[in-house]
Amino acid sequence: MIIGVPKETYPGEKRVAIVPATAPSLQKAGFIIHLEEGAGVSAGFTDKMYEAEGVVISDRKEVFDKSDVILQVRTIGTGTDSDADDLNALKEGQIVIGLIDALTNREAVNSLANAKVKAFALELVPRITRAQSMDVLSSQANIAGYKAALMAADSLPRLFPMMMTAAGTITPARVLVIGAGVAGLQAIATCNRLGAIVSGYDIRPAVKEQVQSLGAKFVELELETEEAEDKGGYAKEMDEEFYKKQQMLMERVVSENDAVISTAAIPGKKAPVLITEAMVSGMKPGSVIVDLAAESGGNCELTVAGETIEKDGVSIIGPVNVPSEVPYHSSQMYGKNIANLVLLMVKDEELNIDLEDEILKDSLVTDDAKVVNERVKESLGL
Ligand code: NAD
Repeated sequence: MIIGVPKETYPGEKRVAIVPATAPSLQKAGFIIHLEEGAGVSAGFTDKMYEAEGVVISDRKEVFDKSDVILQVRTIGTGTDSDADDLNALKEGQIVIGLIDALTNREAVNSLANAKVKAFALELVPRITRAQSMDVLSSQANIAGYKAALMAADSLPRLFPMMMTAAGTITPARVLVIGAGVAGLQAIATCNRLGAIVSGYDIRPAVKEQVQSLGAKFVELELETEEAEDKGGYAKEMDEEFYKKQQMLMERVVSENDAVISTAAIPGKKAPVLITEAMVSGMKPGSVIVDLAAESGGNCELTVAGETIEKDGVSIIGPVNVPSEVPYHSSQMYGKNIANLVLLMVKDEELNIDLEDEILKDSLVTDDAKVVNERVKESLGL
């Protein structure tokens, strides 16, 4: 069984699908690993480091030609010019595993189906206890939350911690984290460690205790939120009236803070707008919004993905692909997640995909030239 790891081609992507330390667990299961020359360099892993773990360094063509399983961060088809060649290089029946953005990226899904590969989307691995070690959404969101806290601290014209100095006492910064999922909780913990006074808010009342256990205050708004959580623990999409009321109630809370880190998301949907232009105008000049939902439309009305804009002295930062800004550790965690999923496909040193297993069934997107995933079909209207 051969695994191939091509160099990432997605613009700005610095991560690599596996790191040298991941190789032994896969080799022990019977895999030979081919890595494209230089694929790990931007994440801090040289070819020599891979070779020391028995990984074969190959050119891109060989990686595609020889492999039974292709491991990527962003799969082929997720949208770069060079994808056309790579799509042709894929072999019928090959297994392709990576982030596809399958619930929203119709083009990527269709391309993978047309290439007749078995494509598994890591973002669709169910969030069940047994799959925790394969959960890239969590591992990468953790990193994004940490980094968002640093971005806020770095951009604010104030200090985060309280300081008592001979030059006077500095009062700590106030930070509001909206959306207390994996990224939000990590942002809360990091801001707290940096000495800010942190509050957290989420539409799901169940996270109140988690927010408080990290030393932050939980913001409670007078909203009907009993129906806000689905069976899987995710936030549900609410109606426009709800979001209007939420914005109104949040206005004062937002204006009381120096920095806002927003992470609110609904899987497969556009992010809810929670901070309006008027709310931005109500913030103190010098305040900062770090909108981690920028890529899915933004939680702030003014957010532009990939840019920082200024409005009335307030900076609105719309970072994209934040985990890739910490590529060493995000690759390390990603590599462990993807290797654990691959190991689930092996029995007695042979590839054996058991579609009775809900982890594999839920993450398989295309097979035999067809889109086979019901959730993807529904979301894309196929
Ligand atoms: P996410 O990225 O989908 O969303 C981020 C947060 O935004 C969520 O907490 C969500 O409730 C919140 N949000 C959505 N709309 C909002 C609004 N209008 N106002 C305020 N907040 C809003 O979430 P996630 O970080 O991927 O985690 C989602 C759930 O999955 C959580 O319950 C988490 O505990 C659970 N989870 C379970 C496992 C597991 O293995 N069992 C692993 C990871 C996460």
